[in-house]
Amino acid sequence: MDRMIHTGGTRTWDVVVIGAGVIGTAIAARLSQTTARVLMLEAAGDVAEGASKGNAGVAPSYYAAPGTLEARLVSATYPRWPEVCRALDVPYRRLGGIIVALDEEQAAALPELCAEARGCGADAEILDGEAVRRLEPLVSEDAVAGLWMAEEGVIDPMRLTAAYAELAARNGVELRFDSPVIAMDRDGARVGAVVTPAGRFEARYVVNASGVRLGELSALAGGEAIRMWPRKGEYWLLDREFGSRLQRIVFAAPAKESKGIHVVPTTHGNALLGPSSDDRDEPDDKSTSEERLRYVFEQARRLVPSVSLDLAIKTFAANRPASEERTRVRLDAGVTNLLHVANRSSGVGSSLGTADYALDLLREAGLDVGERPGAAASLPAVPRLHDHPAPETLTSIDPRYGQVVCVCEQVSAAEIAAALESSVPARTLDGIRKRTRATGGRCQGAVCAAGVAFMCSLRYGLPPERIQAIDHGFLGVEP
Ligand SMILES: Cc1cc2nc3c(=O)[nH]c(=O)nc-3n(C[C@H](O)[C@H](O)[C@H](O)COP(=O)(O)OP(=O)(O)OC[C@H]3O[C@@H](n4cnc5c(N)ncnc54)[C@H](O)[C@@H]3O)c2cc1C
Repeated sequence: MDRMIHTGGTRTWDVVVIGAGVIGTAIAARLSQTTARVLMLEAAGDVAEGASKGNAGVAPSYYAAPGTLEARLVSATYPRWPEVCRALDVPYRRLGGIIVALDEEQAAALPELCAEARGCGADAEILDGEAVRRLEPLVSEDAVAGLWMAEEGVIDPMRLTAAYAELAARNGVELRFDSPVIAMDRDGARVGAVVTPAGRFEARYVVNASGVRLGELSALAGGEAIRMWPRKGEYWLLDREFGSRLQRIVFAAPAKESKGIHVVPTTHGNALLGPSSDDRDEPDDKSTSEERLRYVFEQARRLVPSVSLDLAIKTFAANRPASEERTRVRLDAGVTNLLHVANRSSGVGSSLGTADYALDLLREAGLDVGERPGAAASLPAVPRLHDHPAPETLTSIDPRYGQVVCVCEQVSAAEIAAALESSVPARTLDGIRKRTRATGGRCQGAVCAAGVAFMCSLRYGLPPERIQAIDHGFLGVEP
């Protein structure tokens, strides 16, 4: 089919995707493999600036009761991670996870959880306390039992989001950053166009993947009343000295409103303690509080007594897009070409299934697109100095591998250059950190930020002092 429809000099996009978090980019990547002509609009200056930036990256095999939409989407996703992460050059580790019961009451809840996990197709088994400690020797002596789930994994959520966006861009999706959607024009029962301060974009279908703003965007379109609110989660990031000793994901027994505190080895060898779970009013508030962080630490220490704040290198918070429905992937009840897609707590771990399901729903609603022959399904891998089996050989590929810019994370100038030259390039220090880990290690940029800023300044032709870090509250490089 004709991928671009011309209407009186303006062009109509088959699909406009609003929001470049993990869900919007996953959908854009999936659509990019079809004949659809796709535009992605993101209010922020980069991908992964919302919930997709501040999560633990747990890629679960079981998250919700069997038969629910959330369970279906997680089950449709997790078996694919090894292959997809290899294809997209995204760090992923299948470590297995243990829900730890610290008393008999928690142990009594495990059979039901085990039945649910198996009902979702996950590999799950109840173990006694000793068997739990054989799998993860750092677990507390107080553990009386545990639910072992061998297929749980961790993923780098920011690299995943950037990779989805990169794949989409390489397949022809147009991405526009700093483009908040401020209005939607109706054409009868449909959205006819999406409006940003830079212009008006005619659309046959609109995907609302704006996270915690989903209700506001629905209102802009005259769609369903959807109440969304931020559910804040706070974390400690611990140094590799601890993370390298932790072998499994250690989960607390789930509470009513959340999965409870976890102790999570990251894909880069650090460890995360968290998250808390507190309903709030302000979606942009990512502040941390001493009281909640103390709570997180105490809960984590009950599971793994050797966690130590002497090894803490950072704290951070992010807001889950909470709503009455944990997972929403459906067309608006009144606006026939508007698809709402949101996920409170498993958006990373269900993103592949969510993207496929979103495409199914768009097709059912009339989006007439086929698979596009020759569309890319993988990205060229950027060799990484820190885990390359023969790092000394890398200078023959690019001499800049010989220049280590970030010592803590062993990131070379070649990797930073790749992030600056990609199809969805980093534009800030934070953007470099998301794609390479530079400035994300023990010194948190104290040593390497100047070097990274210098490389950015060469790329963008700006003085280094104008290369700034979103994290620190400044503006990014102007487009
Ligand atoms: C503390 C915490 C821990 C979590 N742990 C996990 C985990 O371990 N595993 C897991 O799978 N999931 C986890 N999650 C959930 C996961 O992070 C979310 O489900 C997922 O990130 C949601 O992705 P999203 O793309 O819908 O939203 P977001 O990442 O928030 O993206 C929405 C995007 O829409 C943009 N936007 C908003 N309004 C507009 C507008 N008007 N115009 C244009 N763009 C707009 C925003 O700028 C943003 O970039 C966790 C979440 C939190 C907060």
